[in-house]
Amino acid sequence: MVVVMKQGSTQVQVDQVIKLVREMGLKDHVIVGTERTVVAVIGDDRHKDRSVFETLDGVDNVVPILAPYKMASVEVKKERSVVQLGGTLGGSVGGKRVGVIAGPCSVEDRSKIIEIAHMVKEGGAVGLRGGAFKPRTSPYAFQGLAEKGLQYLAEAREQTGLAIVTEVMSIDQVALVADYSDVLQIGARNMQNYNLLSKVGEQNKPVMLKRGLCATLEEFLLAAEYIMARGNVNVILCERGVRTFEEYVRNTLPLAVVPAIHRVSHLPVVVDPSHGTGKRYLVDPMCRAAVAAGADGLILEVHQDPEHALTDGAQSITPTQFADMMKVIRRVAAAVDREA
Ligand code: PEP
Ligand code: MN
Repeated sequence: MVVVMKQGSTQVQVDQVIKLVREMGLKDHVIVGTERTVVAVIGDDRHKDRSVFETLDGVDNVVPILAPYKMASVEVKKERSVVQLGGTLGGSVGGKRVGVIAGPCSVEDRSKIIEIAHMVKEGGAVGLRGGAFKPRTSPYAFQGLAEKGLQYLAEAREQTGLAIVTEVMSIDQVALVADYSDVLQIGARNMQNYNLLSKVGEQNKPVMLKRGLCATLEEFLLAAEYIMARGNVNVILCERGVRTFEEYVRNTLPLAVVPAIHRVSHLPVVVDPSHGTGKRYLVDPMCRAAVAAGADGLILEVHQDPEHALTDGAQSITPTQFADMMKVIRRVAAAVDREA
């Protein structure tokens, strides 16, 4: 349920609501809006008496949350959330500006990641992507540089100011990855690793949650809820395509999910057309389409020499293609009242 306070309610009155929530064995999350404050009550409140809140001073009304996800729902928060990415460039997703995160699939060596960081910054990115821990289908394939890779990413941030977005694959890596990076990426294969979701919910760096390969929209939002229920509300949803019968692409990229999420959730949505298509020639048109559909950000793979990339070369674009694409993206963004 959500306890909606009257306009002009006092902190003492809000504290009284919080006290009662805690006495019921439930958790509170206070959202101070532009007009009024609401207290979201988190936990299983099906058998709790809502009317006790209604009679408290300063309370306007109490509304049940109908969606299965609570913190992620527009029923709890109407205004869209803006997530600050970190770094010194001040990039964010969810505001007027479409936040672009670019970089290689994996960190391959020090000089290449630093060089590409400068190149994508030049092109207009606010975040640098690159995996140090890679979820590979084959145990014999390149698994990433682990902590060394994180150190190179941190050095790239120092030189460019870009926010670092990198994947964390397991609970025991969370502290390490959070130490070096600005945004923790949860990969598609881990979207339903609930222990991992809870763990990243307990630290305070933003989390970019990628949609599972066969997850429904509701499962996706419930996964976000796991993170938010632990106190970390800085969640970015990432549509990266789902597995279908189709063979001309690696994954099928359902862009309708962008407005569909915006209808039910305040969380920002970024689109990953690299994994979403698996084909270099489709990245540029799908970026344009994503921005036109209202995406709050883009994350894409850019590599100096895609033919020789250690991972995902077929879907990586070159820095020149990236810079050219960004010029068009800015025009598309302007057409839908955004910036890029
Ligand atoms: C990646 O971003 O390189 C990656 C492995 O993504 P996903 O989890 O979407 O497959
Ligand atoms: Mn990749």
